[in-house]
Amino acid sequence: MSEDIKRRMDIAVELIRKGGTLLKEPCIKCGGVQVRYKGRTLCVNCGSIESPIELEVPSFNEVIANLKDLITIKIQEVSNQLKVETNVEKQTQLTSLLLQYLQIMERILKREESS
Ligand SMILES: [Zn+2]
Repeated sequence: MSEDIKRRMDIAVELIRKGGTLLKEPCIKCGGVQVRYKGRTLCVNCGSIESPIELEVPSFNEVIANLKDLITIKIQEVSNQLKVETNVEKQTQLTSLLLQYLQIMERILKREESS
């Protein structure tokens, strides 16, 4: 038995001790024994871990934090474009875009203040 499998066996035992369950279904990759714990499935044999999609959903606060970073970058990008833009029509487009980003940012900041 390889060290890796031994280590995973230990983890599996630990997970079962914590309330995990041994699955009847074998691993789809290797046919090994699988343990389910907190919605995740670990194959003891090959170490493949599967997590259901619902666990991948980030919290709303995380999403907002990411959005804040994204909007900051976008504002920077549009500002840089605006700096070199000579076409008045394009400037109008860029400024209205900026305004929209700033509105979103304003709401994010307001939300942070109130929480
Ligand atoms: Zn497997």
